[in-house]
Amino acid sequence: MSQHATAYTPRNAWDVYATPEERTAIRALAARYLQFISACKTERETVDYVAARLMEAGYGNDFTSGKVMLPLRGKCIFIARRGTAPLSEGLHLIAAHADTPRLDFKQRPLIEQPGVAQAKTHYYGGIRKYQWLARPLALHGVLIRSDGTTVRVRVGEDAGDPVFTIADLLPHLAQKQNTQTVADAFEAEKLNVILGHSPLPTADGDAPGEPIKGQLLDILLRKYDVREEDFVSAEMQAVPAGEARFVGLDEALLGGYGQDDRICVFAALEALLTAEEPRHTVALMFWDKEEIGSDGATGASSSFLRYCMEDVAAAWGEGARISQIMLATRALSADVNAALDPDHQEVHEKQNAAMLGFGPCFCKFTGSRGKYGASEADAELLGWLRGMYNRLNIPWQIAECGRVDQGGGGTVALFLAAHGMQVIDFGPALLGMHSPFELSSAVDLFATVRAYRAFLEA
Ligand code: MN
Ligand code: MN
Repeated sequence: MSQHATAYTPRNAWDVYATPEERTAIRALAARYLQFISACKTERETVDYVAARLMEAGYGNDFTSGKVMLPLRGKCIFIARRGTAPLSEGLHLIAAHADTPRLDFKQRPLIEQPGVAQAKTHYYGGIRKYQWLARPLALHGVLIRSDGTTVRVRVGEDAGDPVFTIADLLPHLAQKQNTQTVADAFEAEKLNVILGHSPLPTADGDAPGEPIKGQLLDILLRKYDVREEDFVSAEMQAVPAGEARFVGLDEALLGGYGQDDRICVFAALEALLTAEEPRHTVALMFWDKEEIGSDGATGASSSFLRYCMEDVAAAWGEGARISQIMLATRALSADVNAALDPDHQEVHEKQNAAMLGFGPCFCKFTGSRGKYGASEADAELLGWLRGMYNRLNIPWQIAECGRVDQGGGGTVALFLAAHGMQVIDFGPALLGMHSPFELSSAVDLFATVRAYRAFLEA
């Protein structure tokens, strides 16, 4: 079937990158990305990884070097590389988020119930609770003791490690639960992570009240020098255990936890580290707290980006006003989009849905119910970007997140727009977003790195 010469259809990125050399490069990039998301499952681990790679590339806190990174509390980080153009022409900024949905331990988590000691949790971000049952979980996080020392925790990832889990109800006794709505059937207060099962051995006639919790406290003290009260000042996260993997016989999909939005963190970092000497000053901003609304000192609604931009202006601005720099800055809100779900196509409006394998996806606005809560991108910015990508033969697509009035979501775009920047959401599509095993396309990752690099070099 042929179509009119001026009709528009997005291009499949696998057709664009079809040479053996390109396929080898796609595979190699994907393999490195899988290692990254297997190793970095929290915002702290991600910021540490980013800082380590930047350090190798000569980034530090000295503005005279032209390559700076400014981390904040180990949870978010601003990065800038000086260009040759005056700062009054604005920056090219890519912003992504390093936090992901998970189960946080409560501040007094430890309980004993019949046969087990558990940790009570309070979920972080948008999760479908049933997806977290009956699967291996790992614990990542920090505990701060009352003397100020830090215990770093990462248990459940190495081959010799134990894992943790939340048991699900057996089908034999789920008749009542089966008749409930999903919202009612899975209670947040039942998301209790099993940490132990054996009771503390005791002298005859001297059984403690909670022997299994007692055993757990014993191990915590012996192995980690941690006491129960130390959990009060802890950030302990239960995340899906195990490594990210290639998916499918063609190994063209990438499956793993936390790809929203670490795929954009990885792509933006790759783009920066492989970019030519930029004309504009370029910057990356990796935030925390996006999944719970971007509030907090390390979230996008904070003043941190402005403080960093003030430092940049003071060092490299040659007298340019901060307002002038902000208003001239062009930004990509690098976040993922919802791919057309093959089994739930009815929640999408197909002509305006993102497709896996069609390159990074523009989203002109997010929000819901009539674009409410969105910072809509300017048509001029979209025109400039698609013109550039068409010239460079980089595949891209454009989509909305789902049918109108079906739901919706938000990103950090509106916080960048509040500074006066021109900004648009732009990132790869995912299947199963926010699940413990999200899917991305290897070719989309490859195309996204190319697209981000072209933006930084533009
Ligand atoms: Mn996201
Ligand atoms: Mn998200």
